[in-house]
Parts: sequence; C-alpha cells; structure tokens
Amino acid sequence: MNISFIGAGSMAEAMISGIIEKKIVAGNEITVLNRSNGHRITQLQEKYGIKKLTSLSELEKHTDVIILAVKPKDILTALQSIQSYIQQGQLLVSVAAGISLSFIESQLHNDVPIVRAMPNTSAMIGKSATAIAFNQSVSDAHQKMALKLFSAIGLTKVVEENQLDAVTGLSGSGPAYIYYIAEALEQAANEIGLEEQIAKQLVIQTLIGAAEMLKHSGEAPENLRKAVTSPGGTTEAGIKVLEQHSVKEAFIDCVKAATKQSAVLA
Ligand code: NAP
Repeated sequence: MNISFIGAGSMAEAMISGIIEKKIVAGNEITVLNRSNGHRITQLQEKYGIKKLTSLSELEKHTDVIILAVKPKDILTALQSIQSYIQQGQLLVSVAAGISLSFIESQLHNDVPIVRAMPNTSAMIGKSATAIAFNQSVSDAHQKMALKLFSAIGLTKVVEENQLDAVTGLSGSGPAYIYYIAEALEQAANEIGLEEQIAKQLVIQTLIGAAEMLKHSGEAPENLRKAVTSPGGTTEAGIKVLEQHSVKEAFIDCVKAATKQSAVLA
C-alpha cells in the first residue's frame, strides 16, 4: 500500500510516525507534499525514510490512499490541486476539522471514496481518540484500511457524519478540558504549600491512574467515585465543594458549547 500526504505538519507527522511504528507500511511507501517543501520534507525524510512527492501527477500511478492534512482554510486549494489526478479505487482521507464530506465531494469528480476523520492532539503520542465517517462510495475494504490507518494514532470509532460535531465537542477539544483540570489542581497544590515539581508529577500520575482505572476496571465513573468517597472523609469534603460550584453541570455545558461552535464553524 502506498500512501501520499498532502500537507506535512503536526497531524501528518503524527500519522506517519504511527503508521511506520505499527508497520502498516514502510517509510519508503509514504510520499509527502508540503506547501513549503524545503526543510520540512528533508526533516521527515531523515527521521522516517519517507519520499518527497515531486509532482502531483505521481499521485495517479503510485498512490492507494491520499491523506489531506492541511488546515481547513487551505483545503479548497489543496482539493483543487489534486482533483484531476485522483484515480478510480484511490481512497481520499481528510483530517480537516469542520470540512464536510459533501464539500469535499463537490470539489471532486464523481464517486471518490472519502473518509472524514476527527482526531485529537494526543495523536502526537499515538493516543488520539478519533472518530471517522465515510461517504457512500467507501467500500468495506476501504473502511478496513481507514480503521487500520487511524489505529496507528490511537483509538478509532466509526460514526455517522452528523455526529462529528459532537465528537469535536467531546474528544476533539477534550484534551484541553483535562489540561484545564490539571491547571486547577497544580494551582491548588501551590496554594496548599506543595513543592511545584512534586505537585506536577502527582497531578499527572493521578490523571493517568484514574484514566487507567476507568479503562481497566469496567466500572462506571460514578461507581468508582462513590467507592473512594467515605462518609465524613476527605474526598467527600472535596466533592461537596465541586457540587456547590456546579462543576459537573459546567462540564456538560462546556461540551455542549464546543459542539455548537463546531457546527457554526463547519
Ligand atoms: P499544520 O501543522 O499547520 O500543517 C499543515 C501543513 O499543510 C503545513 O505544513 C502547510 O505547509 C501544508 N499545506 C498547506 N496548504 C497546502 C497545500 N495546498 N499543499 C500542500 N501542503 C499544504 O496543521 P496540523 O496541526 O497538522 O493540522 C492539519 C489538519 O489536521 C487540520 O485541518 C486540522 O483541522 C486537523 N487536526 C489537527 C489536529 C492536531 O492535533 N494538530 C487535531 C485534529 C484535527 P506550510 O507550512 O508551508 O504552510
């Protein structure tokens, strides 16, 4: 399988790194085109052994999957530049946030199989929570191929396209919500007199430990919380304050607001 990336920024690198590490394809089966080709491509060639896409016409013969990894504002130009080179049977993948399948279809000839993906920034360490949606032309084999590609950067779930705004509000923006909690815990640690470096590590490990418990115990978060909240104890005193401040409701409103904004930006 040969894969071509149009756009060689952070998301492309995350995918290239994961795809090679998971041995989905070798570095020399990946070609990359970037707007400013120079230094960036050399850097990726040296790090991953990928090849430079010297001309867009190469897409016609040497590519099974084309991955569009440009910013949403650059997607139209990128689509227009590749539209006449896409061949029957090739799969087009877009990771551009908020760019619909119908918009991409409208810029291409008929029946191009297209995958639209919503990864998150944890893709950089192979821990993305990604959702993907397909257009009507995507075959079973293409679906398998797309799942394999995105599994290289983390967990991948298939959804209907109309759920991608909700996915954006939940897991697309999700890492920032968790960083916000970490920020608050670090500030609290400072105010209660803990040494900064020690507090930082305790916060990170607490988040990792809680996430791993959620993943491996199979228990609902509410049950895990109740199990560590003894009457009259320290956790109960803390949770009471979160409830007084309606923190749970604030998080629910936060995800809803992000979801709404995703639909506005689309
Ligand atoms: P990025 O680091 O800015 O990379 C985009 C790259 O595309 C740049 O290297 C740019 O080149 C190149 N480019 C622009 N127009 C081009 C064209 N017509 N042909 C070839 N190359 C072109 O952006 P990113 O963070 O990787 O994001 C890429 C996409 O992933 C976005 O649409 C974003 O919505 C999506 N996404 C990213 C993340 C994330 O964590 N980063 C998460 C979810 C979704 P120049 O540098 O020369 O301009």
